[in-house]
Amino acid sequence: RKRNPHEVEFHQAVEEVVESVMPWYLDHKEYHREQILERTTEPDRIIIFRVCWETDSGDVRANRAWRVQFNHALGPYKGGLRFHPSVTQSVLKFLGFEQIFKNSLTGLPMGGAKGGSNFNPKGKSSREVMRFCQSMMVELSRHIGEDVDVPAGDIGVGAREISYLFGQYMRLENRWSGVLTGKGQTFGGSAVRTEATGYGCVYFCEHMLNQHGEGIAGKTVAISGSGNVATYAAEKAIEKGAKVLTLSDSDGFIEVKGGLSMEQLQFVKDLKENRRGRISEVADTFAGVTYHADATPWGVACDIAMPCATQNEMDDHDAKTLVNNGVIAVCEGANMPLTNHAAGVLAKNNVLHAPGKASNAGGVAVSGLEQSQNAMRISWDRDEVDTRLQKIMTSIHSRCVEHGEHNGRVNYVTGANIAGFKKVADAMLAYGVV
Ligand code: NDP
Repeated sequence: RKRNPHEVEFHQAVEEVVESVMPWYLDHKEYHREQILERTTEPDRIIIFRVCWETDSGDVRANRAWRVQFNHALGPYKGGLRFHPSVTQSVLKFLGFEQIFKNSLTGLPMGGAKGGSNFNPKGKSSREVMRFCQSMMVELSRHIGEDVDVPAGDIGVGAREISYLFGQYMRLENRWSGVLTGKGQTFGGSAVRTEATGYGCVYFCEHMLNQHGEGIAGKTVAISGSGNVATYAAEKAIEKGAKVLTLSDSDGFIEVKGGLSMEQLQFVKDLKENRRGRISEVADTFAGVTYHADATPWGVACDIAMPCATQNEMDDHDAKTLVNNGVIAVCEGANMPLTNHAAGVLAKNNVLHAPGKASNAGGVAVSGLEQSQNAMRISWDRDEVDTRLQKIMTSIHSRCVEHGEHNGRVNYVTGANIAGFKKVADAMLAYGVV
């Protein structure tokens, strides 16, 4: 804390990992002696830069951008870019730190990184977003490359932003390379990348339920968010026979007592991806949908909660409400959506809890598959990628069970942290003091 003052999100992420790996870590003197844990909490480097751009009316704006290259023991740096006014160095350090272990869990050769800017794409025209992306890439291009660091999307960075960034990289470098993932499918993007995080989260959730004698069909699910992760988690959950009761955005949530229909979900996707509207519009358009302003979905009784919006969106009070309403599983689509106190409440009440680094790893896994396809200059079809995604989620689940099972019940937080950490630690040991 002294070394990183005021970085509360980063402290929180480190504390969560350290608490769960410590007993196991202390049993392994070789890691201890070489200070592996201390070394993994210090990023390899952080690049900070100014991004100047021009509004449609000719005014000049300046934002700050970062790339946190955290650890490349397992492969080239990999992790998304986030555009949101709440982005700070602390937020990107927590995300980059988590990314190291998440990428390790996928079994693919990827290191951990994260980047982004406090630029707010909301309310900006597409041309303004384009000018921002182009300006950001002028500096970012000096630090990335297909074998060095391969950024992707995150909050506020979807297909449109990735395309602008990629176009500018090609212009600057005068060559085509798989330097970003999440590209359009006509120019090197992978099938199923858009769906991968949400789908993967539901695949993981199903394994977790099956492991404990439950299934997903017929279960009620409360989902937060209405962006990339939330909408595709909802889609897969509905496909598997679950009833999705809620979706949200930063202004409030919608409740659909009978369960969200595919038609309503399609409306939400168009609303958010193309029209960039507010979730309240769903209630204005469909009967049987109620809108709750300034509230989160955690007061709605459900079997499964899937927080898919942002960090710290569920606190201990929300977790207690969910427990009192009989929740059996919380499966994280977002990164660190629970405060550490909320996670404590779930653990105390024996609620199954999948941490994001395991349950939302499907997105980066398919990004890894996109890199492989780009390197081989081939593209796999939807079935091929979806089959590989399912295999990866099954293997992440097995690794959590291997390291987290105790008396027939799995602690997924411990399992994911130890399994993810061990592989990175072994690579760092092998490299010596570097
Ligand atoms: P999107 O930008 O597509 O959607 C984000 C959603 O969360 C929107 O509904 C947004 O509402 C809401 N949201 C964002 N910030 C806040 C906030 N401060 N308070 C309340 N609601 C908020 O992002 P993604 O779906 O891509 O990402 C969601 C989460 O999943 C993030 O934690 C991300 O790091 C994580 N993740 C994403 C992956 C991916 O492949 N995309 C991979 C792994 C993890 P509004 O429209 O009002 O802003």
